[in-house]
Amino acid sequence: MDDSYIKEFEAKITKIDGNKVYLDKTAFYPRGGGLVSDTGKLVKDSKEYKVVFVGKESGEIYHEVENVEGLAKGDMVKGIIDWERRYRVMRMHTASHIISALLYKARNCLITGNQISYDKSRIDFNLETMDKKFLQNIIEKSNKVVEMGIEVKVYYLPKEEAFKIPGIVKLAGKLPPNVEKLRIVEIENIDIQADGGVHVKNTKEIGKIVLLKTENKGKNNRRLYFTVEP
Ligand SMILES: [Zn+2]
Repeated sequence: MDDSYIKEFEAKITKIDGNKVYLDKTAFYPRGGGLVSDTGKLVKDSKEYKVVFVGKESGEIYHEVENVEGLAKGDMVKGIIDWERRYRVMRMHTASHIISALLYKARNCLITGNQISYDKSRIDFNLETMDKKFLQNIIEKSNKVVEMGIEVKVYYLPKEEAFKIPGIVKLAGKLPPNVEKLRIVEIENIDIQADGGVHVKNTKEIGKIVLLKTENKGKNNRRLYFTVEP
């Protein structure tokens, strides 16, 4: 939540339930907020345990490993995140902020869903008629923002204060959970929202956004697929 660039960390196993390993702390990102989960490995005494999925259940993060044999409660392990995958997700996700903000700015498009992955990502939004030229133009403008090298700030605000910021919750009909403080992600003059995801520190890290495909998904719903260049 506070440092998306932690690639390795030490932690203690607090519980094992089937193939699910719980730790006293973790830098793995669990699936949620439209983002895929991290993968990677846990290491104990130079033996590696592949982490195939990370999820969250009633507020607790679990690490699903291929085989828990040899792991026990109280053990110290080293967590290693598949950084290549994670960094692409961070770039993709930050790109989606820019694209969504520009869609909203240009035609008040509200985001109805998104799925951020490491190879390709999609954004669903409402727009009355499909306009490929408009969407191509949004991607071009997004790339200009990327090139500007704007800092991506992450900080916390009390809920009441956060809700005073217009458009802080962009995902239509989806309010953040009932918490006192909200984590705010801000790309100055471009986008500001309450968000629990992983992002890059500067828009320049995104590289180049490429529009892959556009689709009609019903009366008001449009979908676009994009990726970031390797
Ligand atoms: Zn985000």
